[in-house]
Amino acid sequence: MQYISTRSKTEPVGSARAIFNGIAEDGGLYVPKLLPRLSFGELKGLLHLDYMGRAKYILSLFFTDFSKEEIDECVDSAYGSGFDTTNPAPISRSFGGISFLELWHGPTCAFKDMALQILPELMRVAVDKVGGGLKPLILAATSGDTGKAALEGFKNVKNTAIQVFYPQNGVSNMQKLQMSTQSGDNVCVTAIKGNFDDAQAGVKSLFLDEELKAELSNRGYSLSSANSINLGRLIPQIVYYFNAYCDLASEGTIDFGDSIDVAVPTGNFGNILSAYYAKLMGLPIGKLICASNKNNALKDFIRTGKYDRNRRLYKTISPSMDILVASNLERLLFTVLDGDSDKVSELMTALSEKGAYTLPEKVRQKIATMFYASHADDERTLQTIGEFFRETGYLCDTHTAVALACAKDYLQGDVFPRHILVVSTASPYKFARDVLRALEICNELPSDEFEMVEKLSTLTATPIPKPIYELKSKPVRFTEVCDVQTMRASLLDFVGAEK
Ligand SMILES: *Cc1c(COP(=O)(O)O)cnc(C)c1O
Repeated sequence: MQYISTRSKTEPVGSARAIFNGIAEDGGLYVPKLLPRLSFGELKGLLHLDYMGRAKYILSLFFTDFSKEEIDECVDSAYGSGFDTTNPAPISRSFGGISFLELWHGPTCAFKDMALQILPELMRVAVDKVGGGLKPLILAATSGDTGKAALEGFKNVKNTAIQVFYPQNGVSNMQKLQMSTQSGDNVCVTAIKGNFDDAQAGVKSLFLDEELKAELSNRGYSLSSANSINLGRLIPQIVYYFNAYCDLASEGTIDFGDSIDVAVPTGNFGNILSAYYAKLMGLPIGKLICASNKNNALKDFIRTGKYDRNRRLYKTISPSMDILVASNLERLLFTVLDGDSDKVSELMTALSEKGAYTLPEKVRQKIATMFYASHADDERTLQTIGEFFRETGYLCDTHTAVALACAKDYLQGDVFPRHILVVSTASPYKFARDVLRALEICNELPSDEFEMVEKLSTLTATPIPKPIYELKSKPVRFTEVCDVQTMRASLLDFVGAEK
């Protein structure tokens, strides 16, 4: 399997190279030259396997320059422990045609763990193959969950280092605490003055800084990314869609061969893109429901064909989706434009220069046959959590609730009846304050985060995830705050001091 850039006709690279580089040299994103397709028989063959078996099968289709032993080892060490369930991505029971794919049973209680537990393993192998003696220095901008999950994945992984930048006032208190207490010898966490897009733009410019590249190379490092643009994250996310489909069929919720719809709470478009890839690979998926919060550039895009980032960024109660520029959308464009990298490049230039671009109507229609888009603001998100809990006893977090609300919007239309898989991306305990507010069952909110967590547990009779419970007693290690302009200096400081 070879990988090419979305933006120009550069030489194709193997998966190790694509994972090691993170972003293509022309600024584009790596995409598979040709997506593998599973026959009906091959799909059926996955039924008798468990998550690990399915993961090994799917990943081996993509990472063809990895040996079987290497893939097995990566999968075993990523998903073998560290999750609080045997199946790392279990499905809830069905609530009248809707079930939840719970992607938050890993060490940071959010869906990023699904990819970031395995990325460091893949990176470790990739470095051996193509690293040329340089160690990867992972640089990440985070709107909350990515950073922590990347830190947990890479901490103490030999021959790697990681620095994470997060917007000072753009993550929840719990997320901030999770990051500032991070353990590990090779990690650094820095807050920046700005929003997530500032942090992401800052990181992007560091990647394109040739002088910095030379300076780091002198110190034995090469920059790499753990953001959702890295193939080593995108591809492992395909696995849980196959896994969920097989589980739904095995337990008899659907008949094998039936199509399902999936509703995905969307920020950078990584998770839903993986679902789209799964669909293109032959997994019976009908509609992809793209769910946004009040930051609904994607909804407008899918409905009108115009992507416009010239709008205010709202702070919402689903902060991991507070994004104006969904970076993985570029990969969707590449596919629906039939691999026309000149056109993708043109659109991306328009996006960076004018902040907007418009798709030809025919291409927009093509997207609209596969994707349905809607959004839910904070008020409706809270309402959805409360209502659903009262009706069913199932508690979901603020991100998941956005997807649930959008799934309900979808069902309002004249639609083909299919089972809907709502992708649940975070434990409700990560957003205890807002979840408690939504339930409207306590008159006065406790002021302390941990009291909220305990109250939530008592009132809903659900267990507190261990990683959140343990946070209470961890010492804070990182307090640095810098400007976007000084991110570079902060990075050099870190690798200067790091042994
Ligand atoms: C990252 C994240 C999302 C958005 O996922 P994308 O792949 O960026 O679209 C949604 N919910 C939670 C909890 C997340 O951490």
